Amino acid sequence: MVTASSLLKFALAAIAVALSAAPVTAFGERCSGTRALLDAVPPAEVPGVCEAASWAESELGLCSLLALKPYTIRFAADIRDDYGSCVFGRFRPNPDVAFILGRSATEKLITSIPDDEPMSVLRSLPVDDLHRSLIVHEVAHAIVHQNLRVSPCHAIHEYIAAVAQLSALPPHARATYLARFAGEDVFTSEMFNDLVEAMNPARFAAAAYRHFNRPGNGCNFVRRLLADPGTVPRVP
Ligand SMILES: [Zn+2]
Repeated sequence: MVTASSLLKFALAAIAVALSAAPVTAFGERCSGTRALLDAVPPAEVPGVCEAASWAESELGLCSLLALKPYTIRFAADIRDDYGSCVFGRFRPNPDVAFILGRSATEKLITSIPDDEPMSVLRSLPVDDLHRSLIVHEVAHAIVHQNLRVSPCHAIHEYIAAVAQLSALPPHARATYLARFAGEDVFTSEMFNDLVEAMNPARFAAAAYRHFNRPGNGCNFVRRLLADPGTVPRVP
């Protein structure tokens, strides 16, 4: 006979199974050779996340941007921006935490992007490549925060994070991304401002990658972004 108490026991057992079915890293597990600490990352994904963090630290290190102190990579099932919209990741400083959607949540969010949104270009990338690049993007925010010597703005943060993210993609995936914005992503330095970034962040990212890779820009421009307040226009 099914009694209320046996139903309760069954429900509690089901909850216990559900909780144990998705183990995640304890807070503070370290990616060796990096400043990254992990939180809520499924054990099977730890090697990939640590590889992405290590790659990001090395890549930014090429421009002498070093992770100066520990930062946390925390997986989450739902991340919102200031307006309540779902986003793939978000960096919050002091303590430095890079929130990133787990792989399945990332896949779900991609499919919800309307076709006419420029950001729908992400659907044409292999999910594993995209997810790795998103980790690199948020780690780049942590490193930029730790090296920024002028007041922060979205344009500075997103320029460097976008260059790191697109550099992290395999060549064919990066070519697919850039092809989506061909002919509309050639920016002068003044065009990298918060307003332009907010209007079309996907195109801003393509433009940043192209701008960074033009002769005379590269690490020189990144160093100016971090130290000279007049490098990009500030939007009030
Ligand atoms: Zn960003």
